[in-house]
Amino acid sequence: MLNSFQVVWFKRDLRITDHEAILQASASNLPTLFLYIHEPEVFKSVHYSFRHERFVWESVVELNQYFTSRKLNFISVEMSAKTCFNQLIDLGLKEVYSLEEIGLEVTYARDRELKGIFKNAGVLWHEYPYSGIRRGLRNRKDFNAYWYDYMSNVIPEIQWSSFESIIQAEAFPVQEFPRLMEKPEVEGIVQNGGYLKAWQYLNSFTQKRVSKYMQHISKPEESRKSCSRISPYLAWGNISLREVFQSQYLAGQNSPYKRNMRQFASRLRWREHFMQKFESECEMEFVSVNRGYESLDYKNEDANYERWKKGKTGFPLVDACMRCLIATGYINFRMRAMLVSFICHHMNQSWERAANYLSGLFLDFEPGIHFPQIQMQAGITGINTVRIYNPTKQAQDQDPNGEFIKKWCPELKNIEVPFIHEPWKLTALEQQMIGFELGVDYPEPMLDLKVTHKDARDRLYGARKSPEIKEEASRIIEKHTLGNR
Ligand SMILES: Cc1cc2nc3c(=O)[nH]c(=O)nc-3n(C[C@H](O)[C@H](O)[C@H](O)COP(=O)(O)OP(=O)(O)OC[C@H]3O[C@@H](n4cnc5c(N)ncnc54)[C@H](O)[C@@H]3O)c2cc1C
Repeated sequence: MLNSFQVVWFKRDLRITDHEAILQASASNLPTLFLYIHEPEVFKSVHYSFRHERFVWESVVELNQYFTSRKLNFISVEMSAKTCFNQLIDLGLKEVYSLEEIGLEVTYARDRELKGIFKNAGVLWHEYPYSGIRRGLRNRKDFNAYWYDYMSNVIPEIQWSSFESIIQAEAFPVQEFPRLMEKPEVEGIVQNGGYLKAWQYLNSFTQKRVSKYMQHISKPEESRKSCSRISPYLAWGNISLREVFQSQYLAGQNSPYKRNMRQFASRLRWREHFMQKFESECEMEFVSVNRGYESLDYKNEDANYERWKKGKTGFPLVDACMRCLIATGYINFRMRAMLVSFICHHMNQSWERAANYLSGLFLDFEPGIHFPQIQMQAGITGINTVRIYNPTKQAQDQDPNGEFIKKWCPELKNIEVPFIHEPWKLTALEQQMIGFELGVDYPEPMLDLKVTHKDARDRLYGARKSPEIKEEASRIIEKHTLGNR
């Protein structure tokens, strides 16, 4: 047994600034252990993948370097939180500091179990709100006022010198979160984790890349540079939303791109608007927020699902977006919406199928945005306009020269505009002349957009007339919207 000590527990908040749990722990006199637990139970969820673990690992390595340089105790272990905390309790753990998590059921269940363990052992668990999101919020009447107030507050600086180290640190579990991530994805293609990277992305955006933000936001190729790309850093907590909000505000004062910066700032608020929805109704991980849509029938046909997953649908922009996402972990908002629209509307497959596959691909997977957005794009909230994207029109609008398509579907590289967007319109002779054979080099389109568009519209607008869906829509408006709808 060591002398009494306290733990600051990192979860999806892998940073050392604007961190309320660290700040509050610094005011206590107990020696402190900083802890990251890599929980196999959490990462075996269908929603997580190797790319998330790698990003987290990179972030944890950076934290380790920081704490080592300050001669403070930091450990990263790979085991269940329950096993870890039971060991720490035996060693003299008295208090735990952490941020609330807007997470999956698996982490919520873990927290419920830990509450019991801490209570029995007399350990105090201090939890602090995650950014501008509040537990137990019943409606959105004061959401904006509270949120702007929180975002504008001065960020308190952490006094690291107030932390006392633990003398007999060798007693701690040494089962380190060990994998050196043997198979790194190609450097620079998938973003790398850590707070230093987060600030690099943010600064290069607010100083320069913001200049074409709104012009490029919907374009799959250009958005990769002109959007901030801050999302994985927010998702894993390498930077706080308040830090991003205040940085953009300061940069915006002297920026010639004030309008773009304002648009960016409003998306930061959307982020927490969505996360608050999920915090208030986390059942969304498993059921439609509008329960009336639970009885909707889906085709859920496997062969086509596999084609969508691999980027082999025969629709060039859909396939290019999926392949790009598989390779890089990122695609912009409009193309995410189109991918979901394609599977849910045109293919008539369930929103869960979309959610379960895409979460593992999005490096920025954030449960609080992911589930509400997927359901919204799948047209099953009953309160939003149903958008059934035509992938050919999207391709013509957002990738008019087909550059993005050719980059990710090289088998189409010899096809020029306008056929690059509709290769099925090439005649046999034209195909022969460019050495391309539809159905051999690239799949024939797997469905007829005109038919599937009409079916989807009839299905979704038909369902909207159901009294249960209408009743649920009123409940959702009351609970989750700002009151100005
Ligand atoms: C089906 C679907 C699923 C999505 N799942 C996720 C997810 O798991 N994680 C995630 O971070 N975003 C998700 N988004 C929202 C959005 O696509 C990404 O936040 C954005 O593309 C990230 O790129 P960026 O940081 O360059 O965005 P920017 O345009 O630079 O925006 C800055 C930040 O604002 C927030 N933001 C931007 N757009 C939205 C939006 N529409 N809704 C909520 N917040 C927004 C994000 O935190 C983003 O990082 C999803 C969108 C759709 C349509």
